[in-house]
Amino acid sequence: MRDTVGVKLESINVPPEVAAARFPGVGRRLGAYLDRLDHVATWSVAVRAEAEGRIRPSRLFGDHVKYDLTANDIDRTRRGMKHLAEMHFLAGATEVVTGVYGMPEVLRSLDELSRYDQASVDPRDYSMVATHLFGGCRAGSDPAMSVVDPQLRVHGIDGLYVMDASVFPTNTGVNPQHGIMAVATVASERLC
Ligand SMILES: Cc1cc2nc3c(=O)[nH]c(=O)nc-3n(C[C@H](O)[C@H](O)[C@H](O)COP(=O)(O)OP(=O)(O)OC[C@H]3O[C@@H](n4cnc5c(N)ncnc54)[C@H](O)[C@@H]3O)c2cc1C
Repeated sequence: MRDTVGVKLESINVPPEVAAARFPGVGRRLGAYLDRLDHVATWSVAVRAEAEGRIRPSRLFGDHVKYDLTANDIDRTRRGMKHLAEMHFLAGATEVVTGVYGMPEVLRSLDELSRYDQASVDPRDYSMVATHLFGGCRAGSDPAMSVVDPQLRVHGIDGLYVMDASVFPTNTGVNPQHGIMAVATVASERLC
């Protein structure tokens, strides 16, 4: 799905308090979901977003990161969610909690999958987290468009290098830690 839709479907482990924040309802209804936590599978749709963002210093929050998902990003998200729901119904799930504002809170059969096609295109209607942020010190040969050069030297400052995820020019679409470690290892060995 990474090469076709542009998403990766992955199971994730979340603590019960995080799961609780994602279930519909309050009181007894929420309690009923929590009672069945050992029958719950938590999955995510990792989207290779085409949106590009901005980082600004913020007095309140340290660095302020902002980016707006494109219509294409939301379309990929919806398609990924639909595949996930289908996969789980085919594996025997009796309920899929959608987590999308404006959609039914819970789907109960394959017949309802088409609801994803009509789901909102507004990014604010989706619960999302951003854990793979890159490009704050993007590498490139043009100082107007990048912070470091292809050898990871900061443009215009001798002896200053950046060797972490911030030099990636784009997002990777996959879990990045191996790539980050490889870049940092190769770049630091060149310094020796
Ligand atoms: C919840 C979550 C889950 C993730 N899961 C995965 C996963 O399963 N697989 C995967 O590959 N990637 C995962 N990632 C992404 C991955 O963790 C990051 O992309 C990666 O750690 C970035 O590496 P980095 O070295 O660029 O920055 P970081 O790992 O963030 O390191 C930056 C370091 O700089 C330090 N620092 C910051 N400011 C200062 C300062 N002023 N002075 C001195 N030190 C400072 C920080 O304390 C930190 O130690 C996940 C990220 C999150 C948030």
